[in-house]
Amino acid sequence: MSNKFYVIATPIGNLSDISLRALEILKKVKFIFCENTLNSQKLLNFYQIKNSKLYSLHKFNEIKIKELVYQKLLEGDCALITDAGTPLISDPGQFTVNYLKTKNIEVIPIPGPSAITTALSGSGIIFNSFAFIGFIDRKEEKLILQLENLKNFIDLIIFYESPKRIVDTLNLISKYYQEDTEIIIARELTKKFEEIKKSTIKDLLNQKNLKGEFVVILPTKNILNIEKDLDRIKKRLNFLQNLNLKDQQILKIYNLFDSKIKKNQLYNLLKQEKKIK
Ligand code: SAM
Repeated sequence: MSNKFYVIATPIGNLSDISLRALEILKKVKFIFCENTLNSQKLLNFYQIKNSKLYSLHKFNEIKIKELVYQKLLEGDCALITDAGTPLISDPGQFTVNYLKTKNIEVIPIPGPSAITTALSGSGIIFNSFAFIGFIDRKEEKLILQLENLKNFIDLIIFYESPKRIVDTLNLISKYYQEDTEIIIARELTKKFEEIKKSTIKDLLNQKNLKGEFVVILPTKNILNIEKDLDRIKKRLNFLQNLNLKDQQILKIYNLFDSKIKKNQLYNLLKQEKKIK
């Protein structure tokens, strides 16, 4: 098949941040798959792009509609765009591209904005390497393992965070950093209230109005206490492996081991580990 599937990066706020090539392709494709058709329509209207038919492709329907994407490719070139930034980066598109590759469809990425690279390029940090971990894992154990595994060979850890969860997340990571460690938060990038700021976690938590979409950049060199916690977690898990207890009993025992972990977190972890039903 000669028709192509274009994966196109779009602005993360400022509508002018779109490449000439992206516009050229959006104007010529027959079908555009959008994470949210209403949001994308605003961008397309702004650039007076009217020729293509829009379909919605989001994380809840992506697997289901892969055949539709293929069918549309039989009829003409298609593009994929998301609400902001580069598709597939904490955004829909991975299953689709994966599937189309198995069908030997030519997939053409059109580069452009992404909140990760935008935050890094305005951060002022000196670094060689970074690990982007998407949205931070809410399970404390997993976060500890991630920090522990990355800290020896990566300079920075970067993740996305929403306004709803930023305070909880800062509280969570404050357990693994010295109080005076400076981290970077980049919020509302390319928008009116853009801010890229180096600050201690403590000062950030004292700030009342942490609003907007965030990228958080953590230096790994100041991570604290991880070995100790890791060791404790491993011991706890080994200990639990040899037990055959009812969930309430497990919870009681577990709480003796670590006051940092909340009961529901522990409950979910044990459920995942199939230690309780
Ligand atoms: N695909 C996008 C990209 O390439 O950056 C990311 C999509 S992800 C679903 C959305 C998250 O990206 C937000 O919750 C926020 O953490 C981050 N983000 C998106 N736009 C942003 C902006 N203008 N400023 C700061 N962070 C942003």
